Formats: sequence, C-alpha cells, structure tokens
Amino acid sequence: MKVFFVGGGPGDPELLTVKALRLLRQCRCCIYAGSLVSPQVLAHLPAGAARYDSVTMTLEQIIAVCRRAQQQEIDVVRLHSGDPSIYGAIGEQMLQLDKLGIAYEVVPGVSSFQAAAAALKTELTAPEVSQTVILTRSAGRTPLPAEQEVDRLAASHATLCLFLSVQKLGELVPALVRHYGADCPIGVVYRASWPDQKIVRGTLDDIVAKVAAEEISRTAMIIVGRALQPGAAVSRLYSDQFSHGYRQATS
Ligand code: SAH
Repeated sequence: MKVFFVGGGPGDPELLTVKALRLLRQCRCCIYAGSLVSPQVLAHLPAGAARYDSVTMTLEQIIAVCRRAQQQEIDVVRLHSGDPSIYGAIGEQMLQLDKLGIAYEVVPGVSSFQAAAAALKTELTAPEVSQTVILTRSAGRTPLPAEQEVDRLAASHATLCLFLSVQKLGELVPALVRHYGADCPIGVVYRASWPDQKIVRGTLDDIVAKVAAEEISRTAMIIVGRALQPGAAVSRLYSDQFSHGYRQATS
C-alpha cells in the first residue's frame, strides 16, 4: 500500500501526466484539493472511488483516511493542484506518514506558472534581460522571511511568478514599479487552462484597474518582468552567425 502525492496539473485534464492519469483511473481512494483541482480531472476517477475534499479537512483527518486505506490495503491518491512541490503542504503530510510507516511516492505535475506562461505565450527567460525565474508569493497569513520580501526579490530584475497574491496586487505594485519601472509588462492569468480562463495583459501602471475590471480575486497567476516584453532581447541559439556544439555558423 502506498500514498501517491499526485500533481493534478493546472486544470486542463490533457495536461495531466500519463502516470497521473493511470493512477487516477486505478484509484479507489482519493483525497483532493477541491478548490483548485478541476472537475474534469476528477472525472477520471472510477465511479466507485472514495473521494475526500481536503478543503474541509484537518491534517489529522487526512492522515486518518490514509491509515484506514493502509488497513484495507488500498492505495491513496493525494491529488494536488499543479505540482505538489509548490505550496502543496506535502511536507507535513509526509512527516505523519513516516511516523506511521506508510510508504509514499510523488508524481510531478504541470504547475500553474507554466500554464500561465503558456496562456500568455511568453518565454520567462530572455537573454541579457532575465536569466532567472523566481516562484514566490506575497505575505499572507503565512509571513515571508524578510530577505524574501517581494521588494528584495524584485531588485534582481528576474522574472517573478507570484502565486496566492492576486488579492494583494495593489499592495505589491509600488515595490515592483521601483525595480522594473511603471511601463514593465505584467500578465495575470485567472484559472489558466480552465474553460473559463481569463488573460489580462498590462503594465505595472494599469494592471490593477484591468484586473479589478475583470473581477479577478482568486486562483490567478501573476507574471512580471521585462522578459514579457515583445521582442525582449532574442537569443542567438538559432542565429546563422552562431556556432555551438551541434551546429556550425553558416554566415
Ligand atoms: N501547487 C500549485 C500551487 C498551489 S498554491 C501549482 O503548482 O500550481 C495555489 C495558487 O496557485 C493559487 O492562488 C494561484 O496563484 C495558483 N494557481 C493554481 N492553479 C491555477 C490556475 N489554474 N491558474 C492560475 N493560477 C493558479
């Protein structure tokens, strides 16, 4: 018997991994993050599978379900949104499973920052502009370590992907403007890859009003940085004047 921490991806069931799909189809007991996992993904569960929405559960209750499954010798699919390693709170669950001697495995998933980048049709890295992508969030009830305040991270001019932060966008903008400039592009994607996905593109100057106009207040990814600028310095990787280990320059 095992607990599988499975990345359910951003929403579109076609973005599930082959492995996640197999585990869902074979599943007899699933604990899922109901607020974020799409119904189309859950639709792959067999009709008879026991389902538990973790939104209303405590850690103890989640572990109790795993324990019962252990007694019945059935596997558990612990279905997380996106990739389980990002704001998935899997660590505390694993700690409890370790204590009980319950084995587990992790199956990665497509994260929402990747689905949002795809929706925006943007590269997150651009030569000489941004060679670093930072996955972060604004301080919520979970405080941020002082060195990781958005103001500090933005000083790097890296591309920032902000989870769990759309409600705080207005508060974040002044720090972002200080480092990226008011005309810096920013994208906000609500429910990336869901049927009701919304894409809002703007600059740091106008994004707050645009997001408010779309009435987006949850489940959105914010991506900001100069790499989003159309025509941000292009790579020479495919240039005919550029040789590398696999190809000689032709001009
Ligand atoms: N493990 C998840 C993140 C969970 S934290 C992942 O890898 O994507 C929850 C936050 O993720 C939300 O507040 C939102 O910022 C983001 N998120 C999750 N699914 C999303 C989606 N489909 N579109 C946009 N943002 C999403």
